[in-house]
Amino acid sequence: MEIDGRRRSSNFEDRGSGGGGGGGGGGGRAGGIISTLFRLFGWKGALAGGVVLGGVFLFAPAPIKQAVFGGGGGGGSASAPAGSSGSVCTLSQKNADACDFSRAVLASTEDVWNGMFKKGNLPQYKEPLPKSYQEPTLVVFTDRVNTGGCGGATSAVGPFYCPADKKLYIDPGFYDVMKSQLKAPGDFAQAYVIAHEVGHHIQNLIGSSRLGLKGESKEETSVRVELQADCLAGVWGHTARADLSITDEDLDEATRAAHAIGDDALGHRDKAKFTHGSSAQRKRWFMRGFKSGDPLKCDTFAVAKNKL
Ligand SMILES: [Zn+2]
Repeated sequence: MEIDGRRRSSNFEDRGSGGGGGGGGGGGRAGGIISTLFRLFGWKGALAGGVVLGGVFLFAPAPIKQAVFGGGGGGGSASAPAGSSGSVCTLSQKNADACDFSRAVLASTEDVWNGMFKKGNLPQYKEPLPKSYQEPTLVVFTDRVNTGGCGGATSAVGPFYCPADKKLYIDPGFYDVMKSQLKAPGDFAQAYVIAHEVGHHIQNLIGSSRLGLKGESKEETSVRVELQADCLAGVWGHTARADLSITDEDLDEATRAAHAIGDDALGHRDKAKFTHGSSAQRKRWFMRGFKSGDPLKCDTFAVAKNKL
């Protein structure tokens, strides 16, 4: 994919590290502070120390905390200056590139979804459907962050969307996690992360993020929500394909990422506990959006459970 010369979004906040409130262990980067938390408290302790919040929408299912962050030691990442805050994007060239890239992808999602909302080409779960797209803000942070209405979170939860403040939260270190731990490298794989979280924002606007289906568990509904976000990410990819020169290799990167973050790929055995869908499902729904470019094809709520 190609982002040179493309627009950068200004709906962007560089929060730096800390995000306010009890930074505890100081200024290490994602890998460092999180593995420290795990060492001290285990998974649940890291959760209690970090997250937790109501109603955020994650990129990857909960086991990612164990599968990705819980495992080995420090991860050998370069440390941010202790106690520093203010800017993630200026800490290194790599971060600067990640921020710039994220702004370009976000801008592309704005163009695509502004168009879709104007056309009214969206599945409808509430009356009335918004007539125009309300652009979300992307927040980059390291280590931990406070949201406007969803509580505080650490990088260990992975990228997420907070519906209360309509913001997407990403620690650029997650791109390294994708490459090294999840074996899902590539710029389009990273773009998929952003597009998926934007998908949750779309759901917030059209009303599907708050749906519950009679007779279905919370987890089952969550799978529908997550697969729809994947499909909407695919719709973005389809629509942006020419503008960003998205190639078949790029597409492979995204489907590899979708596969890597399936509940089964991350170690969940019990299907009843799935929250994001299997690798096969995530790939399938992303491709359904990517092939059709039609948000109406993303109505995961209209599909029988065994057809998802
Ligand atoms: Zn999600």
